[in-house]
Amino acid sequence: MSSKYWSDVVGKLTPYVPGEQPKLVNLVKLNTNENPYGPSLRAIEAIRGEVGASLRLYPDPNADRLKQAIAALHGLGTQQVFVGNGSDEVLAHVFLALLKHQRPILFPDITYSFYPVYCGLYGIEYRAVPLSESFEIRVEDYRQTNGGIIFPNPNAPTGRLLALADIERLLAANSESVVVVDEAYIAFGGASAIPLIARNSNLLVVQTLSKSHSLAGLRVGFALGHSDLIEALERVKNSFNSYPLDRLAIAGATAAIADTAHFEQTRLAVIASREKLAQQLAQLGFEVLPSQANFIFTRHPQRDAGELAKALRERSIIVRHFKLPRIEQFLRITIGTDEQCAALVAALRQILG
Ligand code: PMP
Repeated sequence: MSSKYWSDVVGKLTPYVPGEQPKLVNLVKLNTNENPYGPSLRAIEAIRGEVGASLRLYPDPNADRLKQAIAALHGLGTQQVFVGNGSDEVLAHVFLALLKHQRPILFPDITYSFYPVYCGLYGIEYRAVPLSESFEIRVEDYRQTNGGIIFPNPNAPTGRLLALADIERLLAANSESVVVVDEAYIAFGGASAIPLIARNSNLLVVQTLSKSHSLAGLRVGFALGHSDLIEALERVKNSFNSYPLDRLAIAGATAAIADTAHFEQTRLAVIASREKLAQQLAQLGFEVLPSQANFIFTRHPQRDAGELAKALRERSIIVRHFKLPRIEQFLRITIGTDEQCAALVAALRQILG
């Protein structure tokens, strides 16, 4: 498809395809890694408090209040915090500001499929580094000249975690380039790389409130790192959109971050459900990769993944199936409430006979 009105760039893009957001109600929706629990009531209250005449005015272009809350939580300075409209927007700015160089950047062959899309958008060369047979990142494989490195930790869609010691080795071996750790799922059991920022000026950590704080609908993500890295992101942001976070998002996100009790309670509930679901799937004959995320990556040695996804859909349960090399026989299943997980297990038991 193309049109004579399109720029050359647009004709050549391969856009990212997000998991579907069906309009049907009563679905067991386990396909886009949303948190099954509602956001903090304090966040909702703060958003409500912001709905009023002040919407006439632009929001704070720097979202200082939110940056202060994030900085305080992690023991950093506000100059070490960048915020954006979802971590997808933060990542987009990262690619342009910090990963566009002469040399190709590196990321795993199986990873967040938005990375190659940003490379296409900004004309960045990349090399996909194969994960091991068991879908692990091997740090030694990243010992090659590069213009930067990016990977999610835990990785998506595998859910596998890279240990902090390995990240430290990666940082030390790549001091000439930026290493971006995309921690979209770190709240669900992994150790964050944030403490390594103090010693590594080439480390950028990206996080999001979408999953950890049940706020996918509010669109708030952020990056943490040395102030020089953050300054690069601010330069791109201020050449793109002065106000990426609206008043509701700034208020809601700031309140959500303050509500640490809600965060702890919901993340522990997701972790407990994940461990239970992993066991139940194993009992049904599934191979389950060890996950530190709010999803499970699994396959059944005797059953086609596409067929399983289809059969689940017929029972109003949707999971994610990627028709991609190496992982076409896997399903990525978001951890729902215990009730949703039970519905999934019951449906699979029926499908498998
Ligand atoms: N990074 C990874 C690894 C993800 O899976 C996602 C969610 N699709 C994102 C970043 C983006 O999340 P958001 O834009 O909602 O912050």
